Amino acid sequence: MKNEKASLVRPDALPASASRPVVTPLSPSVVYASDTPDMLDAQYEGKLHGYTYSREGHPNADVVGRRLDRMEHAPHPGVVTASGMAAVSAVLLGLMRSGDHVIGGNQLYGRSLRMMNEDLPRLGIATTLVNPGDVTAVRAAIRPETRMILVEVVSNPTLAVADIAGLAALAREAGVLLVVDNTFTTPRAFKPFEQGADIVIHSLTKLLAGHSDVMLGWVAAADAALNDRLRVFAVTSGMTPSPFDCWLAERGMLSFDLRFDRAQATAARLADHLAGLKGVRRVLYPARADHPDHARAAELLDGQFCNMVSFELDGGRTAANAFTRGAEGLSFAPTLGDVGTTISHPASSSHRGMTADAREALGMSEGFFRISVGLEDPVTLCDVFTTAVAAAMDA
Ligand SMILES: *Cc1c(COP(=O)(O)O)cnc(C)c1O
Repeated sequence: MKNEKASLVRPDALPASASRPVVTPLSPSVVYASDTPDMLDAQYEGKLHGYTYSREGHPNADVVGRRLDRMEHAPHPGVVTASGMAAVSAVLLGLMRSGDHVIGGNQLYGRSLRMMNEDLPRLGIATTLVNPGDVTAVRAAIRPETRMILVEVVSNPTLAVADIAGLAALAREAGVLLVVDNTFTTPRAFKPFEQGADIVIHSLTKLLAGHSDVMLGWVAAADAALNDRLRVFAVTSGMTPSPFDCWLAERGMLSFDLRFDRAQATAARLADHLAGLKGVRRVLYPARADHPDHARAAELLDGQFCNMVSFELDGGRTAANAFTRGAEGLSFAPTLGDVGTTISHPASSSHRGMTADAREALGMSEGFFRISVGLEDPVTLCDVFTTAVAAAMDA
């Protein structure tokens, strides 16, 4: 009876259409149905492409993954993860074993640092943190059991630039893996695989997805076997992402190039503007000739820099409070890469766990701010900073 069939607990098939959607459809299905056991066999054996269970892969993750593969010139398809930290964890937990030693940059992203300081040692994996701009120091930290060097290209929040060419040569010579977290620089400014990186990591949460409404990560390895291990570990440990997050991220990534170019051009302009304001002690932006790593940045980043600018105000916490209060229309929030400019204050957020002396040693006083430049009109944005810095100096 026809009516009985309609009552089966399954959604109806989509209506036929001679035209197709111009936007990627969202595919929230967790499971995928096959016609026959033979076809399922063929799928598992890799003779037919098909999905089975969304933790293992789904169309929305694949469109994001393939887009990033192209952007990064990845030799093999990378794996999309539920966050940038899941990508970092897949590398550290999925490839290292007890007894191994890992060298990390001494100014890694906060949670990556925590992984190096707390979680890896707990699992019997030794770690050493070194300035990634100092290849001699990194070389001195290498031990017989060293397996990996993990660095970011531009450090947070002092925007120091790693010596990637030197590290790549050292890693090759020593037979260790060079892992580059390319979140700050993005493939628009820097392609680590082309500079000798073995593994590349991204947090798409930041500039790539770009709207502060989705968390996502990506990781790929140049070596096919390592790349497979990363995928298998991410799937096994449940690090893989939800279709909706991937759908949002793809939508954001479609405008990434334009957003990046605009934001970094405005960042350069804002850095110069800040440097001319009374009460601004110093400005850190790698495109400026007064940045300590300017020459290296210019060579490595091929004329593109980043959308991050850091600066130091005179006047300590009182001035800092007046500054954020006076920066009307900008979010005082510890994130980066949003369409809107955001301001972060390391002493009260990302670096609050450090003693004041340790922070000062890294150049982060109470007056130190990091700006993630967004897509505002540059003149309007510079005006907001003029007003806010003046308010800070009056406080
Ligand atoms: C934000 C960030 C991460 C972590 O990414 P999430 O998506 O927040 O988990 C890792 N590395 C860098 C450099 C980051 O800025």
